[in-house]
Amino acid sequence: MSTLGTFRSLLSMGALFGAVLCFLEVPLVFEHQIDSDSVPPYAWLNDLKRCLVVIDAGHGGKDGGTAGHGLQEKNVTLDLAKRVEKQLIERGVKVSMTRSADEFLELDERCDIANNISADAFLSLHLNASLAPEPNGIETYFSSKRTLGDITALRKKLSLPAESEFHDQRNVFLAEALHRRSCRATEAEDRGVRDSNFIVVMHTVCPAVLIECGYLTNVAEAENLKGTAYKDKLARAIADGLCHYLRATQLNPQRGIIIGAAPKPNGVAPAAEKPD
Ligand SMILES: [Zn+2]
Repeated sequence: MSTLGTFRSLLSMGALFGAVLCFLEVPLVFEHQIDSDSVPPYAWLNDLKRCLVVIDAGHGGKDGGTAGHGLQEKNVTLDLAKRVEKQLIERGVKVSMTRSADEFLELDERCDIANNISADAFLSLHLNASLAPEPNGIETYFSSKRTLGDITALRKKLSLPAESEFHDQRNVFLAEALHRRSCRATEAEDRGVRDSNFIVVMHTVCPAVLIECGYLTNVAEAENLKGTAYKDKLARAIADGLCHYLRATQLNPQRGIIIGAAPKPNGVAPAAEKPD
C-alpha cells in the first residue's frame, strides 16, 4: 500500500473510532478513567475553575459537638475542612467555607450559604460518637427529600420536559464517590452510604453530603485523627471524590438524573435530624 493509501486508511479508522465514541457517548467512554485516583490525562476537557464547592465544618462556637479521647468535634471538623479546602484549591476548584474559625452557625444558615451562591456541591464534615468504645468507621449521608421548588428549578436548568418524570440521584452519586475513596484511602471501616433527614443535606438545593469521618470515642480512630498524615489522607480522598463528581457532571450535566424510573431503594432507615 502506498504512503497516501496508508494515510487514508488511518484517517478512515480514526473516523470510525470517532463515530463509535459518539455512539457510546463520551461520558461513558471516559467513565473508567474518571474512576482513577490519578490526575486524568484529559483534565483539559474539564475546567474545575468553574466549579464552586461549599465546605461546612460541623458545629462550632457554643456547639462543641461530640468529644472523645481529648478531641472535640468542632475542632477536628474545622481542621479537616481546611485540609479539604486546600486540596480543592490546588485542583483549581473555588471553595467557600461556612466557617473558618470557632464560630457558631445555625444549620439553616449553613444551607443558605450554599443556596445563595448557587454552589455546585455541599459537603458537611462531622465526627461520630458512641456509648460503646468499639464502633468505628466512616459513614456518609445524603437526603432523598426534595421540595417541589427544587424539582421545578432543576427541571428548568436541565431543560427536562414539564411532564417528564425524573429522579435526582446526584447526591447519591456524590456521596458514593467520596465515601468509597475515603474508606479505601484510610482503610477505615465502611459503615455505608445512607439516606437521612439531616437538615444540612435536606435544605441545600445543590447535591449535598454529610460525612461522619470516624468515631472520637474509638481509641484507635481518635489516635488516627490526632495525626496530620491520616487527616491529609482523608482530606485528599474526599477532594478526589468531589472532583470525580464535578468532572463527571461537567461531562454530562444529567449524570445522576434518572429519567422515567423509580429511584433505587436505599433500604436504610433515615437518621435523626441532628448529626452527632
Ligand atoms: Zn457532628
